[in-house]
Amino acid sequence: MGKGMNKYDFDLFVIGAGSGGVRAARVAANHGARVAICEDSRVGGTCVIRGCIPKKFMVYASHFAENFEDAADYGWTVGPRSFSWTKFMAAKDKEIDRLNKIYIRLLDNAGVELVVGTGRFVDAHTVEVAGRQITADKILIATGGWPVKPVSSGSEHAITSNELFELPAQPRRVIVVGGGYIAVEFAGILNGLGSDVIQIYRGAQILRGFDGDVRATLAQEMRKKGVDIRVESNIKHIEKLPSGLIVTCEDGEIIEADCVLCATGRAPKTESLNLAAVGVAQRENGAVIVDKYSQTNIDNIYAVGDVTDRVNLTPVALNEGLCFADTVFGGRERIMSHETIASAVFSQPSVATVGLSEEAARLQGGKVDIYKSTFRPLLHTLSGRDEKTLMKIVVDATTDRVLGVHMVGPEAAEIIQGLAVAVKMGATKADFDATVGIHPTAAEEFVTMRERYVAPEAQAAE
Ligand code: NDP
Repeated sequence: MGKGMNKYDFDLFVIGAGSGGVRAARVAANHGARVAICEDSRVGGTCVIRGCIPKKFMVYASHFAENFEDAADYGWTVGPRSFSWTKFMAAKDKEIDRLNKIYIRLLDNAGVELVVGTGRFVDAHTVEVAGRQITADKILIATGGWPVKPVSSGSEHAITSNELFELPAQPRRVIVVGGGYIAVEFAGILNGLGSDVIQIYRGAQILRGFDGDVRATLAQEMRKKGVDIRVESNIKHIEKLPSGLIVTCEDGEIIEADCVLCATGRAPKTESLNLAAVGVAQRENGAVIVDKYSQTNIDNIYAVGDVTDRVNLTPVALNEGLCFADTVFGGRERIMSHETIASAVFSQPSVATVGLSEEAARLQGGKVDIYKSTFRPLLHTLSGRDEKTLMKIVVDATTDRVLGVHMVGPEAAEIIQGLAVAVKMGATKADFDATVGIHPTAAEEFVTMRERYVAPEAQAAE
């Protein structure tokens, strides 16, 4: 399929060299397709340049603050310590540069031509990049997403995660707006690095969509660490003065800050594509509409990753890109399953989850059993740190099948990744019980929870 269409410059032209686009381009090229890709920023996309990777470095940097404190309780003498934002940023930038070069080399090694510039559709087989018209049999849209700021007056004085990664100096007083992944991650990072952080969220509890116990536990632990989380609140106006920013909240409260970080969601990046010229169908929020093959309503145009707003995670984009390339250029039909995708929030403590929350499981109508455990991690029995870990299993009481597994605590992501295999395979609670734990770990708790949780109100009724 797709090969030898020599009436076009390329068999495949990819718009956007992030996780999804690069994977699709490389795999298609390995299948023998003639491929080119364009990028108007740095090759690597959100994940590598201004997302997952630099964010995780910041989480590590931030976490040392607690590590130093805990070390003292283990007998270490820890000398004076200070954090240099400049030194950290330089180290982070160096590593991001290295990764960016690796991505460029991977494309080069696969024989994919890299075109620098913004891709804009001319017709269904032609894309214009930096004044050059390039034709291709198939075109893949992989432009990702971009942070959005709520339209409140003075929002030009607020930054998004994009700019945070480039800030020349550490802001001392920070207001984080939002209650999603990015908001809780940066609230934790900046708090750990020593900034004063107020997190303002419009809803009743942070991390909407996650399990209720996870949300409550994380909010409580973040507050204990010093993040001032204020719910059912929002900012209305930002004014810039030489001394800093004056932020007026909806309830009239006025807060002074050095930085307002809007982590209020991301939108599909489609404005510059000129999709109207080819009639590619979009949702109201701009997302490109695709079927299970990532194919749009225009036969030769496909889209993968955040621009399609399905599940906005790097590994999902990688998989969608792979499935597209194998199906269209490899003669091997592959469909990505968007069911039961594990994910993590690199908050402090971290959160990871796979499958259904208790609330979502109950909505399905069947009888649900809950197993949960809250404990102080072994590390902190000696350090004395008041931090709780939460582990929770949601089970279909009729079939015994494990519907969801949730954790708040150190290494949650590393632990849940393995359990995600079991949940994806359809493991039952009996399978969990038949598994012998690794001792002493936090993870073993997941295979030793025997007592069904009965809510106090239900206990009284029973
Ligand atoms: P999210 O959609 O997760 O969260 C956006 C937050 O902003 C929500 O709390 C939302 O409130 C709030 N919000 C939206 N609009 C407004 C507004 N006008 N005023 C005030 N608050 C508002 O987006 P993020 O930006 O945090 O992240 C984007 C996506 O990126 C995530 O959904 C995730 O898929 C991905 N991501 C994944 C990470 C990971 O895997 N660790 C890390 C970072 C991002 P409400 O809940 O009321 O809608």
